[in-house]
Amino acid sequence: MTSRRALLAWWADEDPPARVTLDRSACLNSFADFCATCVERCPVEGAILLVGRHPVVQEACTGCGVCIPLCPAPKRALSLSPDPP
Ligand code: SF4
Ligand code: SF4
Repeated sequence: MTSRRALLAWWADEDPPARVTLDRSACLNSFADFCATCVERCPVEGAILLVGRHPVVQEACTGCGVCIPLCPAPKRALSLSPDPP
């Protein structure tokens, strides 16, 4: 099945949509530290939310990439991936 965003991008002749992927094993919240930088600095309301102590990317993520360079984890936990089908 193709996502609604992918269909809209195809319809509008735009680049395929992307979304941030979070590698939870690299996120500081999988260690002793607590971090919410990606959640706090994301400019899109509801695009990434804390669930317990872990950030979870939501469908509202536009793939703008703002959060990626802000991640302070030693092995960056955020990366851009094609929108899942
Ligand atoms: S890519 Fe943009 S919209 Fe998505 S979580 Fe990061 S800052 Fe928010
Ligand atoms: S900015 Fe990086 S380390 Fe901080 S909560 Fe988000 S993914 Fe985890």
